[in-house]
Amino acid sequence: MEKREERDLPPLKQSARSPDMVIKKETMGKQEPSERVYLDISNAIFEQRLKPSTKLGEQMLCEIFGVNRPVIRRALMRLSYETLVDIRPNRGAFVASPSPEDARQIFEARRAVEEWITRQCVACAGPSDIEHLHAHVAMEAEARRSGDRLHVIRLSGAFHLELANITKNSRMRRFLEELVAQTSLIISLYGKNDESLCDDDHARIVEAIAQKDSESAVKRICAHLDSCLSSLSFAEENDSTDLRSIFMDQRHYNTLSS
Ligand SMILES: [Zn+2]
Repeated sequence: MEKREERDLPPLKQSARSPDMVIKKETMGKQEPSERVYLDISNAIFEQRLKPSTKLGEQMLCEIFGVNRPVIRRALMRLSYETLVDIRPNRGAFVASPSPEDARQIFEARRAVEEWITRQCVACAGPSDIEHLHAHVAMEAEARRSGDRLHVIRLSGAFHLELANITKNSRMRRFLEELVAQTSLIISLYGKNDESLCDDDHARIVEAIAQKDSESAVKRICAHLDSCLSSLSFAEENDSTDLRSIFMDQRHYNTLSS
């Protein structure tokens, strides 16, 4: 059933990564194999390189990552727990394919979480945090100008996680990380075009946080999430992609070719 369709794949080359993703990748050498597999798959979902409904065949993942089945299963179980992967009885694991109702619920959850995060940011962001956010927004603008779609996707999601970092609440940050990854799946499925990606809204949110204007910051983040949701079109088909091509560019799988 797996189609080897690559026409919609973004460029496979890894471009500059968001600070958030760099942290994950740089510690990769010291990680447990299942953690490494988990991070590579969740990053591929986050970056929309892995599309909804793609079959995650255990045998192929073993070959791609050079690990055994229990390692792959641990990673898939964790992804399933985070609702990024569906494990179907007798059929195996698939990248999750959220329904329109799932999409609405995820954005509702993001509104609740990000309203709290934004209020906390206004309360506790210091000058260096604001400077860091300005730098992030400038990186996003540069990525949009250069037309590097993958980099834009990564930075857009990472902006929201940067806000969560400022709150120093690691549970809330982790929760948002899952929601942002789920949002990537939703945009893969239902995004009409790159309007679904965050644009100048981020700069306006940072401006309100810098001015310590809590109400305005909350209003802007909620309007931003509402506009992301309303830019979706719930009538699209998805297609499956080739697992090898998704992960092949990464250093540690350089022995494989198709
Ligand atoms: Zn955004």
